[in-house]
Amino acid sequence: MPSANPTSPPEQNPTAVATRPITDPDRYSRQVLFPGIGAAGQHLLAGAHVAIVGVGATGAASASLLARAGVGTLSLIDRDFVEPSNLHRQVLFDEADALASLPKAEAARRKILLFNSSIRVLPHVVDLVPANIHDLLSGVHLVLDATDNFETRFLINDFAVQGTVPWIYAAAIGATAATMNILPRPPRSGNLPQPTRLPQPSHVPHLPGSQEPVPLPDAWQPTACLACLFPAPPAGPVETCDTAGILSTAVNLAASIQVTEALKLLTGQPHLLRRTLLSFDLWQPTLSSGLSHSEVSATAPDPDCLVCGHRIFAHLAGEGRPHITLCGRNSVQIHEHHRPVDLAAMHLRLSRHADTNPKMHPDTPADIQDLRSNDLLLRFRRGPLTLTLFGDGRAVIQGTSDIAVARTLYARFIGS
Ligand SMILES: [Zn+2]
Repeated sequence: MPSANPTSPPEQNPTAVATRPITDPDRYSRQVLFPGIGAAGQHLLAGAHVAIVGVGATGAASASLLARAGVGTLSLIDRDFVEPSNLHRQVLFDEADALASLPKAEAARRKILLFNSSIRVLPHVVDLVPANIHDLLSGVHLVLDATDNFETRFLINDFAVQGTVPWIYAAAIGATAATMNILPRPPRSGNLPQPTRLPQPSHVPHLPGSQEPVPLPDAWQPTACLACLFPAPPAGPVETCDTAGILSTAVNLAASIQVTEALKLLTGQPHLLRRTLLSFDLWQPTLSSGLSHSEVSATAPDPDCLVCGHRIFAHLAGEGRPHITLCGRNSVQIHEHHRPVDLAAMHLRLSRHADTNPKMHPDTPADIQDLRSNDLLLRFRRGPLTLTLFGDGRAVIQGTSDIAVARTLYARFIGS
């Protein structure tokens, strides 16, 4: 039987067209059409290296967006494993990941490579601590915060200010999303580290909708750092998504703003960056209430800031961290003497998640079991782990000798 197309080799596989490698022009054509990015911006993104600290809800969403946008190298840092309760908001994970308790950094790498195999993804299944932060973050162009605790954010802030590396804070809790760009002030003099060299544009980009070239500043104008706005981590128990709940839409808004700011920076347009601590409450119906949207100026560094003003890096030196010790063969103790706990209030807060809650739907599995407290201590069980909390903020987690597992349980239910 003659071929329909006499020029085609008769043995050609009719599905061959589907196996043609996907090229960059195929993949990024619609993004390159956007005048703020263009071909030059796309080229810069391919040469960029971004670290994402925390690959939970915000981190997974930001990693997905950056990978699809074509950022050439992503370092993904997370100490945690995928659980079923992650699936409603953590966009890179599926049921198989949760059933296998796959580490989030590795699960994210596998998913990303399914939709963009042309970039590099470096997973790190570790807790970011002062001892490893230089190894993990040195050389990156930008750090994205997607953690769930201020302890790690202040550590990132110390590192970023010391090395003049830009970073972007992001947080989501309940229906609220917040972000802030931190462009550290370079050191004034001496043999201190020089600012991170961002990929440099070869063409002057145009603002969207404009044909006029935009003059580029030589470098970014420094903003406030995290410690300028928050000289100390919040005192007392901090609500987390495990105690206050969270909407996946708030997560995705925080990630969308964070990644958009990242794209501006990585394409050499720091003058377009927001210079405020920006927060949205997606549950409030109108802007006129004044509650749904707020911006706090972060335009300039505070000259009295201990971190960016006086260059004292207490968190990098390990001074801001709770003291953690292994005690016995199968338990971890977290000392937080500086933060007393109201045990009765904590009991009330946790009772919503306990199997003793009479309002809990019978089909809803409780997050914690056997919640009990008295004047001296509070105790609950979660799977094989038992957490005992004392009035001075000290906690003992029995059932593990893994500090990361103990810290995760503590951060999720007691606060960071
Ligand atoms: Zn500062």
